[in-house]
Amino acid sequence: MSIAVSNRFPGSFSSRKMPHLAIVGVGGNIGDPAARFDRLVDYLRKQRRAPVRILRTSPLLKNPPFGYTDQPDFLNGVMEMETKLGPFALIRYLLWVEKRFGRKRSFRNAPRTLDLDIIFYDDLKRRTKRLEVPHPHFHERESVMIPLMLLKGGRR
Ligand code: ADP
Ligand code: MG
Repeated sequence: MSIAVSNRFPGSFSSRKMPHLAIVGVGGNIGDPAARFDRLVDYLRKQRRAPVRILRTSPLLKNPPFGYTDQPDFLNGVMEMETKLGPFALIRYLLWVEKRFGRKRSFRNAPRTLDLDIIFYDDLKRRTKRLEVPHPHFHERESVMIPLMLLKGGRR
């Protein structure tokens, strides 16, 4: 496990005063995930009508894979974003963005270009198949907890 930075992680950006706040985990282990995460931030920020706006990004953490271990290490971080979307619209949108960044679904815990998980959405609690928030495993995953602490620590 080691900490990494990229052009956009960590970072902080201006707000557009959207009504909801979400913490979204970002992960990937195919190709150059750091470069892809940077492109993701730039993509979301340059679209004037994007329904989300990234406010802050954490440093990145390099983590060994779990579940299916015969695959490259993961790079993980968290992003704080504001959004005008409700929670179910947000998960739909993030799944669409994953696809746009080359995500293919094969098997559980498979290697991936981009994984976007909602960790928190305001202080909402929901337990459905489509959306579980707070994310059910976040507190037991260093890949989320450490970037989350680093994000909080960076608060001015
Ligand atoms: P994982 O992130 O657990 O490796 P996937 O990204 O393949 O698995 O799972 C995506 C599915 O999980 C989606 O169909 C989505 O609706 C569902 N899901 C439930 N809760 C969440 C959440 N908090 N964040 C992201 N996806 C979620
Ligand atoms: Mg996911």
